[in-house]
Amino acid sequence: MKQFEFLNLAKVNAPYMDDIRRAVDNVVISGRYIGGEENARFERTMSEIHGVEYAVGVSNGLDALRLILETYKILGRLNPGDEVIVPANTYIATVMAIIQAGLTPVPVEPSLHTLNIDSAAIEPALTPRTRAIMTVHLYGRVAYDDTMRELVRKHNLLLFEDNAQAIGAVSSTEGLYGNCMTGALGDAAAFSFYPTKNIGAMGDAGAVLTPHAEVAETVRALANYGSDRRYHNIYSGFNCRLDPVQAAVLNVKLKHLGEESARRQALAAVYDRHITNPKVTKPAIPASPSEHVWHQYVILAPDRDRFRKDLAANGVQTDIHYATPPHRQPCYATRFASLHLPVTDRIADHCISLPISPATTPQDAEEIAAIINSL
Ligand SMILES: *Cc1c(COP(=O)(O)O)cnc(C)c1O
Repeated sequence: MKQFEFLNLAKVNAPYMDDIRRAVDNVVISGRYIGGEENARFERTMSEIHGVEYAVGVSNGLDALRLILETYKILGRLNPGDEVIVPANTYIATVMAIIQAGLTPVPVEPSLHTLNIDSAAIEPALTPRTRAIMTVHLYGRVAYDDTMRELVRKHNLLLFEDNAQAIGAVSSTEGLYGNCMTGALGDAAAFSFYPTKNIGAMGDAGAVLTPHAEVAETVRALANYGSDRRYHNIYSGFNCRLDPVQAAVLNVKLKHLGEESARRQALAAVYDRHITNPKVTKPAIPASPSEHVWHQYVILAPDRDRFRKDLAANGVQTDIHYATPPHRQPCYATRFASLHLPVTDRIADHCISLPISPATTPQDAEEIAAIINSL
């Protein structure tokens, strides 16, 4: 029986292998193993792609989030205990970064239609202590709209983006500073290049984008022991630098961002056209297709675990993003014990991620859809 792998990273990277070997070899030969030309080029590329003035390469996505929040504390724009609006159904890193920065995450329910934070549910969650929205473009779909833009303006909030899953997505609503790509919409954005992301490194890597010079400078200093120049430490910082070997890999792959997004969008279109099983809820396709880069293609099924088993029995590997939302994780269950988040719980109980990596072909997607329809 044909096997449909969920994700095979060696296959995903195979088309880039020659270029990656050459790029990594250049780092090896250069003798420069911290910072250097590959990092500088990575930051220039990220800045150009997104039309945002400042990009700082960092160690990973969680550190990117933490550096943004620590920076805003240093700049006096955030203070311990300030509240940050966050989607309740995000990957735990978003919530963890906020808590580790001494801030208070306020989880807000997603919309069952977009599976992203429900902008209409944000205003009731605002209090006099709310200082920021940390939006998450979950599964690759833009989580920003006119309602969110107006709220940020009206209440003078900071807008941060967790763009770990949506590099390359384009918002239909203009960002606060005139840009449209995710990661360019607000005051600062965190990127992750964890190997499974749409653009994945061969290890950990991340980036911070911001239109504000003082934010970029502070993030860069904090990520390098709080040092503004050699052996001169103005902050008690961290070591969150980007590895130049990873920068070299990413410089190869970032050139193909457009193709990678288009390939995922084409697979999503095949699933959307061919899945007709009435038990299955398909993800909504946005009016503008570029608003979604399909990091995951997530369906909802009533008897999820049974459905997954049946898919597996037919050779279709699937995954779950995420079975346990942050408010139910052991580390935060006490903190969030009083929260009632039925939409988040419902998604967690019913979601199934179908194969959508670049190693999946449109033919595979059609066959997977046929298997789904037969169940
Ligand atoms: C992957 C991910 C992160 C964390 O990125 P790392 O590079 O693994 O630290 C943060 N937020 C979201 C939404 C993610 O998917």
